[in-house]
Amino acid sequence: MSDWQPTACMLCECNCGVEVQLGGPDGRHLTKVRGDKAHPASKGYACEKPSRMDFYQNGPDRVRKPLRRRPDGSFEEIDWDTAVREVAECFAALREEHGGESIFYYGGGGQGNHMPAAYSRSTLAALGSRYRTNALAQEKTGEFWVSARMLGGSFTRADFENCEVGVFIGKNPWFSHGLPHARLTLRALAKDPERCMIVIDPRRSETAEMADIHLAVKPGTDAWLLAAMIAVLVQEDLLAGDWLAEHADGLEQVVPHFAAIDVARYCEACGVTEEQVREATRRIARAESAAIFEDLGVQMNRHSTLVSYLHRLLGFGTGNFAKKGAAYSPASLQPIASHTEPPGGKAATSPVTGSRIISGLIPCNVVPDEILTDHPKRFRGMIVESGNPAHSLADTARMREALSALDLLVVIDVAMTETARLADYVLPVATQFEKAEATFFNFEFPKNYFHLRHPLFDPPDGLFSEAELHSRLVEALGAMPEPAVKALRKAWDEGRPAFRARFFEFLQGEPGFFPMAPVVLYRAIGDKLPHGLKEGAVVWALAQIAAQRIPDSVRRAGFDVDGAELGDALFDAILESPRGMIFAVDDWEEGWKRVGTPNGRIQLALPDLLQEVDILDAGPPQETSAEFPFVLSAGERRSFTANTIFRTPEWRKKDPRGALRISPDDAERLGLADGGAVRVTTKRGSAVTVAEVSDRMRPGHVSLPNGMGVDFTSAQGGLERAGAAPNELTASEDRDRFAGTPWHKHVAARVEAVA
Ligand code: SF4
Repeated sequence: MSDWQPTACMLCECNCGVEVQLGGPDGRHLTKVRGDKAHPASKGYACEKPSRMDFYQNGPDRVRKPLRRRPDGSFEEIDWDTAVREVAECFAALREEHGGESIFYYGGGGQGNHMPAAYSRSTLAALGSRYRTNALAQEKTGEFWVSARMLGGSFTRADFENCEVGVFIGKNPWFSHGLPHARLTLRALAKDPERCMIVIDPRRSETAEMADIHLAVKPGTDAWLLAAMIAVLVQEDLLAGDWLAEHADGLEQVVPHFAAIDVARYCEACGVTEEQVREATRRIARAESAAIFEDLGVQMNRHSTLVSYLHRLLGFGTGNFAKKGAAYSPASLQPIASHTEPPGGKAATSPVTGSRIISGLIPCNVVPDEILTDHPKRFRGMIVESGNPAHSLADTARMREALSALDLLVVIDVAMTETARLADYVLPVATQFEKAEATFFNFEFPKNYFHLRHPLFDPPDGLFSEAELHSRLVEALGAMPEPAVKALRKAWDEGRPAFRARFFEFLQGEPGFFPMAPVVLYRAIGDKLPHGLKEGAVVWALAQIAAQRIPDSVRRAGFDVDGAELGDALFDAILESPRGMIFAVDDWEEGWKRVGTPNGRIQLALPDLLQEVDILDAGPPQETSAEFPFVLSAGERRSFTANTIFRTPEWRKKDPRGALRISPDDAERLGLADGGAVRVTTKRGSAVTVAEVSDRMRPGHVSLPNGMGVDFTSAQGGLERAGAAPNELTASEDRDRFAGTPWHKHVAARVEAVA
């Protein structure tokens, strides 16, 4: 058994610091895991999930050699030189014939490995590829779009540690986390009589159970509830008038849309009593501070972009921005949530369907439509990296058809995923514990953190990281700026001032150098960094950019150097901090500096979404039917659910098959016993699993967990699947009309007992 070694959990965006012991017969197992008390963000906190991380590191179906598809459909192993050469040649041929924009990129990292996103930029630039997406475009892009327009490119999170009132909309942090030390924060909020927790959720979730006010909204009607709450603010004169006059524009355009709302009727529409709605709204309005967090329960639901807008009207309307306990704009090392709307110009759109591109991402739900067409601009080649669209995106059957229709599909991943099984080439890489890795989900405030994790193992079988792979691909494409690599290698040895000067010379003097910078840095200095940290080379550039973008925040974090030295001081500290480090410290005023609107004020009026508010007056449409009478939430976060990086059900200590949760009334009516077999059918597909009779569910509402239905090779050698894959049941056309985000949490379904 080894000493405890620091790393991080990569099973949700929090990336809590953990310590692990290594052991097992080959010394390559994570045998014990505990929270790392020295981690500056999580401070020893960890939930139950990271104890199972060895099921990822030593999971089934690891790919160890590059694979090429044979004409008969099977795979053959090939050597790395052949693999890199052929993949580069095939993509180059596509580029010559159809243009680089015909090559589409999906992925770039899951919850814990964002380095591939940085290095893949170079390969994509070498190919002339323009379009990309990842899972954020089926979750968060509506929120990014609204936030960007109201705050001018900025993105917000909220301070639940210090808020007087905490509001969770479609979020169950007890299991989905998303805030630092989620369970401790929830407990502190729940037990303080001076504070108040409000939860908006159709289910009596674990978080709702702790709440002072649980607004048990009917599935899919959150927009009516939030509109009613804003109407209460307007009609009872509860808006933060002076604050809004000082900081915001457009209130006079917003108010008329809510002044005439019949609150009682909207409350009836959403199934929450008017008394509760007024109580919750008044509590928010009179609080010193309110923190509000929306998540997938509404972001993958009907009216999701409108809900994101109403959420912000509720927060800004009560003055809850840029003060303790309210919303904030985090400093970021590498912004991944920002979006800039062209002022008065035409937003970028996807080439076939013309769908809005937000934060550089095409909506996931339109990907099949961008492929399965004879449109001359359709996607013909695709790189999938650390992602699994054949499982994780809506309408899996159609997604499989689309991926199979491509001229070329190359998958870069650790294991044989559902997507890899469809590929022409599979390029295997090191796991997250076999290379230096990091996440750019750095959303905290006032102190913000970054953790460049050190590897725990060397990669086996001559495997290597995505940084090495992209460098080889760029070289094979003849696009590596070799003179720059050579000059920068030399300059590094001469010292940082010389290196910086040379780097910025190339940046300013060489057109096309910028997107190549990740692989150039990797080749130039990767092997000169401390052992095991070569993938951190690109962080040198990110540190320089952060030092220029947020110098005061970086200096407040203890980097007492000026000018050009600041970025290098930050970079060195990152390399020297295997348990993570504080890279930025903000004050609350910083929030206003990050408002990027032309006049620095919050823009309350978004005309297209105010029109949507008016449409609510017609009431919620009937979305279930006699054929499909239930609302299915597909993809619920539970104690042992994660994305598809765990490929065996054994990792789950509970609920290995991923039960369908159903209310006692519905179960009784359908003759369903707890643990009995149940079939759930939607317009798109059907799946059989087990039932869990749960009084957390309201009648008419059922839920399936996320991450189920993953194929894996069993101990007996056969391919097996545990549980129902949620996206066999969802439809790609069921999506938000602004952001294209899916309605996975609101799928009309039929439920039947299976004999
Ligand atoms: S909250 Fe749990 S799942 Fe999320 S990073 Fe921390 S330990 Fe991992």
